[in-house]
Amino acid sequence: MAEIRVQNLHKAFADFTAVQDSSFTVRDGEFFCLLGPSGCGKTTTLRMIAGLELPTSGQIFLGGEDVTFKRASHRDIAFVFQLFALYPHMNVRRNIAFPLVSQGLPRAQVAAKVAEAARVLRIEHLLDKPVSGLASGDRQRVALGRAIVRHPLAFMMDEPLGALDSEFRELMCRELRALHDRLHATTVYVTHDQLEAMAMADTIAIMNRGVIEQLGPPQEVYDRPASVFVADFIGSPAMNFLAAGGGYVAGAEHVRIGEAVLRVPALREDAPGPSMLIGVRPEHLRLAPASALRAEVLGTEYLGTSQIVTCLTAQGATVRAQVGVDVPAQRGHPVGLAFDPTRVSLFDEATGRALRTARDDDTDSHDVRGARPPARELGTSLGAAHG
Ligand code: ATP
Repeated sequence: MAEIRVQNLHKAFADFTAVQDSSFTVRDGEFFCLLGPSGCGKTTTLRMIAGLELPTSGQIFLGGEDVTFKRASHRDIAFVFQLFALYPHMNVRRNIAFPLVSQGLPRAQVAAKVAEAARVLRIEHLLDKPVSGLASGDRQRVALGRAIVRHPLAFMMDEPLGALDSEFRELMCRELRALHDRLHATTVYVTHDQLEAMAMADTIAIMNRGVIEQLGPPQEVYDRPASVFVADFIGSPAMNFLAAGGGYVAGAEHVRIGEAVLRVPALREDAPGPSMLIGVRPEHLRLAPASALRAEVLGTEYLGTSQIVTCLTAQGATVRAQVGVDVPAQRGHPVGLAFDPTRVSLFDEATGRALRTARDDDTDSHDVRGARPPARELGTSLGAAHG
């Protein structure tokens, strides 16, 4: 396995820039997710690393070697696609063995490696079955078998679970991560599904219009979003945004929204704040009858152990609070909203950049690569993804 280093990578198709000045390192043995909406440049980045697309400029290093202009077939990288192309006329054993047979490996070695891959993926019982009759999850396991059997330097996975229904995807997510924990294979995984990325990645790179907006472990991007885009993309239900206008004064640490004077954390800079957006996660928004931040309940969604209450603020913002099932909330009724000022993020409304995030005062949650927020904070199901 090997480290992948990408330096100032740039890709233009005619006059359209698909990837812009991208730099990151995937550490040896790391599970690295490229996450972002459709068309943001994830697949193009992956294809450049694999050698299937030539960068317009920039460099790619694999295990310290500059492979920018090296052919794909000489990079020792295995690709797993969403539309896993298996050979339908071959059984599982021959499908997995195919890359080794193509390399001309002796029969005994092929048999041993196929047996090992099948054992790791727990598909020994399927080895003599034709792939045409397999369920989609098993077909994906065979595709993974074909990728891992030749022990490549790194794996590139492009939405490999995209064709599966949400229940299977959840299962395969756990299997993929467990497989990674056994093999410690350097993996770059492309997805538009934030829940998939949050559940599996050691590090997530969140892309928007060809640019990496933030790079960090799941917990870091969840707790300290660098921009409104990241804050909105990560988390389900999404973060709420309240426009606070100007008026923040250093030292006073409060903003005014309508009649409400709300305490907010101190900004990093010692200067009057610009027009701000206050970002509050649904689980940090409370219904407080006496609060001056007034809203009307639009509806409730029962989740079993909690409920999502959707409200329209007096200023016209739709917000969601995740509260206990015992909290009274009736459609059409007025409510007050409140939040813990230490749990909010503040953004510059004009640029979208974070001025301060909820965990800026914590030092112990920094640099915890691979840390993930508790599952309940990630949302309710893998099916509820941003698209
Ligand atoms: P998706 O999940 O929809 O594939 P993505 O984030 O992987 O999205 P890319 O496939 O990398 O996005 O595409 C990024 C942009 O580059 C898109 O606007 C796409 O239309 C464009 N693009 C990709 N390949 C080409 C190509 N060969 N020629 C022209 N434009 C391209």
